[in-house]
Amino acid sequence: MALTGRLIVIVFVVNCGSSSIKYQLINMEGERVMAKGLIERIGMEGSTLKHTPAGKYTIDLKEEIPDHKVGICMAIKALTSKEYGVIKDMSEIDAVGHRVVHGGERFTDSVLITSDVLRGIEACCEIAPLHNPPNLYGINACMEIMRGTPQVAVFDTAFHQTMPKVAYLYGLPYEMYVKYGVRRYGFHGTSHKYVALRAAELMQEHMNDLRIHLGNGASIAAIKYGKSIDTSMGYTPLEGLIMGTRSGEIDPAIIPFLMEKENMNAQQIDDYLNRRSGILGISGLSSDFRDLESAANRGDDRSQLAIDVFAYKVKKYIGGYVAAMGGVDAIVFTAGLGENSPFMRDKICNGLEYLGTRIDPDLNQVRGKEREISVRRARVKIFVIPTNEELVIARDTYNICRRIIKL
Ligand code: AMP
Repeated sequence: MALTGRLIVIVFVVNCGSSSIKYQLINMEGERVMAKGLIERIGMEGSTLKHTPAGKYTIDLKEEIPDHKVGICMAIKALTSKEYGVIKDMSEIDAVGHRVVHGGERFTDSVLITSDVLRGIEACCEIAPLHNPPNLYGINACMEIMRGTPQVAVFDTAFHQTMPKVAYLYGLPYEMYVKYGVRRYGFHGTSHKYVALRAAELMQEHMNDLRIHLGNGASIAAIKYGKSIDTSMGYTPLEGLIMGTRSGEIDPAIIPFLMEKENMNAQQIDDYLNRRSGILGISGLSSDFRDLESAANRGDDRSQLAIDVFAYKVKKYIGGYVAAMGGVDAIVFTAGLGENSPFMRDKICNGLEYLGTRIDPDLNQVRGKEREISVRRARVKIFVIPTNEELVIARDTYNICRRIIKL
């Protein structure tokens, strides 16, 4: 890969799921998003590409997209289109940054992708069978299509590799950790990293703080002086808080009990805990908090219960992590629910006054914007900070490529 002398300006950020691709094209001079897009239903009937050039309308393209390589080709076609493109030619893309869900213990930071790195990501497929294979499809497709363009992997797990052993070991025989790498890894790392940096900028220093990422997937991270020391997701993104459709932590003895009673095999129980549980399972109505809030307002008891259980669990984690950090300076809400629900933020923070904080009801009305929402002079500050995982991926890609060019 000939990086020498190459100026890195335009970064293509790629996030591949099993049947989807999210992408952004970012000009790193001013960190300006040039276009973004979403491809859905890859390998299924009715696949679509939604492409949005910055400041313009979304273009909706319906075409057969049998695999990720065709998807990436379509995204590049849209980015270079005469009508709605933002670059003339694919060669204007200087580097590609890929979201990779699992980096195991090997990847403690983002890396330039080489054949050895590819083998490392492949090795993590065993512990992330749903996530890492589609990430690899995207990487392989981009490497084939954009030969010679540097590709960087940015891992969801890397930010949490600073956790101490006491936080990441489970109460299982130690050999299971040695033999199979069974331990807490934690996820949402790019989101927690972005918010960690913004919170430190807002407070003008790194202190003890709690990052609360509440979206379809939800996790809390305890950040001590800028480093993750514990986080609620575990070996997989199923552990920890109750989520939209995921159970979060449960007594492990429930699993064989339900398998026997409900006649489920391993794959069925996995599906049950990942896709049919959480607030969807408790409410029996929806995995979306907007639906639950309006149903609860109409008097639906189970929707109210799902909301109550969720908020209670978050509050319990806050208490646990404050103890782990030996105090707290700030609590930060991010992601879909954290950024947009004054109601849920209020419910979670209600009763945390003993920590030295109180939410300001007027400031808390903010949605999707960065703002401090605690009362003036609160000892523990509460912030809403919209996350930006794509920007973290673009920045890491840019910095790694520039560092290599300089060597
Ligand atoms: P994310 O996975 O970060 O995109 O978050 C999606 C989730 O955020 C949705 O399923 C909703 O539960 C929640 N959410 C988004 N907007 C709002 C809102 N205005 N009020 C309440 N919940 C919201």
